[in-house]
Amino acid sequence: AERSPSRAFRPDATVAAMDERFGHVIDGEERASLDGAEFDSVDPYTQSPWARVALGGAPEADLAVTAARRAFDEGPWPRMGFAERGALLHRLADLVEANAAELAMADTRDMGKPVSDALGKDVPRTAQNLRFFADHARLSASEAYPTDTGHHAYARYEPAGVVAAIAPWNFPLMLESWKIAPALAWGNTVVLKPAEDSPASATILARLAVEAGLPPGVLNVLHGYGPDSAGAALTADPRVDRITFTGESSTGRVITAAAARNLTPVSLELGGKGANLVFADADLTTAVDWSIRAIFTNAGQVCLAGSRLYVQRPILDEFLARFVAAADALVVGDPKDAGTQIGPLSSQTHHAKVTSYLEDPSGKVLTGGPGDGWFVRPTVVVDAAPDSPIQCEEIFGPVVTVTPFDTEDEAVAAANGSRYGLNAMVFTENLSRAHRVSARLRAGTVWTNCFFVRDLRAPFGGVGDSGWGREGGTFSREFFTEPKAVVMAI
Ligand code: NAD
Repeated sequence: AERSPSRAFRPDATVAAMDERFGHVIDGEERASLDGAEFDSVDPYTQSPWARVALGGAPEADLAVTAARRAFDEGPWPRMGFAERGALLHRLADLVEANAAELAMADTRDMGKPVSDALGKDVPRTAQNLRFFADHARLSASEAYPTDTGHHAYARYEPAGVVAAIAPWNFPLMLESWKIAPALAWGNTVVLKPAEDSPASATILARLAVEAGLPPGVLNVLHGYGPDSAGAALTADPRVDRITFTGESSTGRVITAAAARNLTPVSLELGGKGANLVFADADLTTAVDWSIRAIFTNAGQVCLAGSRLYVQRPILDEFLARFVAAADALVVGDPKDAGTQIGPLSSQTHHAKVTSYLEDPSGKVLTGGPGDGWFVRPTVVVDAAPDSPIQCEEIFGPVVTVTPFDTEDEAVAAANGSRYGLNAMVFTENLSRAHRVSARLRAGTVWTNCFFVRDLRAPFGGVGDSGWGREGGTFSREFFTEPKAVVMAI
């Protein structure tokens, strides 16, 4: 696909401050807020605004939901066949790939993600999400139930209606597409509210959706803040049929309360405090390599981060020596440089939150600590008290606590001793132990001898304060459709 000149990626744009504008996209039109209100998106590396973004509130939320409602009730989208809808989503995936550089740099400038990650992981996964769910919906078989009474019953998966998708800033485009792709593939229409710290890529994606030929109103983007703003207005609107939310556990509670007033079903992908268990029989090179990625990818701003590392005592010293050396070797710098592995934290507010944990780290800081600007260097803390904030709370930064253990039971108990339960990692070369411990861990995902490997058919979600429900494959189908039973006498 050709890139239109207006959207062409300009590497020199970093110096041309405020040359970018990102509007809402409502009913197929990119537009300003009714009162013209805007906010700045700040590049966390330069600490300067790089774009102006439309600032929506209740009136713009109303317009966006109205457009989505009309597109659902009257438009062609829910009535199209799966093949036709799927072809449009594949076309959008093509355009995402063709505009990868611009999309990646938008996330990098908005929230400081290394551009190598944005380009190498987030954008390809966005295209893959669109392709996977387009195909999954088309090929997803319905169930049939022949009965002993001579009746025949089957299930139809009908679109739920208007979906409100509310996203966080840590994997902007990738997590937005994780919601949008299944919602659209099953015939829903969407109002997406990206996080205020990472608005740009959502507008670009919606521009591409118009170019791909998605009908007006099918994918709307609404910018603004959460409380008393665009986000809250969206969750309070009775014309919304589903709310899919990814973000903090505390926000999940507020959104669930708003949704309860309209009995709107909610899917919640919330925070985490991932336990990472390294047994003495692990392959040490594998364990160190993945443990580094588990905590320091995206500067630790990952819900799945392996932020609680538990290491069996016989290998503790050797593990720590290798782990600290690997942490120190990570390249910290300008996220726009291809070689950078750790960028700044996403915002000044978030930097203040993360560094507050280091003011009283409870244990001993082996390496790391605050860096220049909004950076925090890869930080390793040992001997933190089990009930300390650094050990119990989601820091969402490049900070890991390392705690020794002696027995398998002790490791499992420590891992499960958290109100979060999104994911856990196990490093062992003992097959029985791998299965046994995986079964005992209270988590939505357990990775053994790896991290972040995803099969889009598998359930994804969390236990406890990490969320409600699962998404992925048939799990997304259950949430984004109204399954209907049809029963007939034959
Ligand atoms: P956040 O909860 O502050 O914000 C997320 C989104 O919710 C933003 O778009 C925000 O504007 C909106 N919002 C805030 N208050 C709202 C309200 N009252 N009504 C409606 N919308 C509202 O989260 P964040 O800081 O953007 O993201 C970081 C959090 O997300 C971390 O806790 C992280 O673990 C979690 N997360 C979870 C997953 C997962 O899959 N489980 C993935 C990524 C991030």
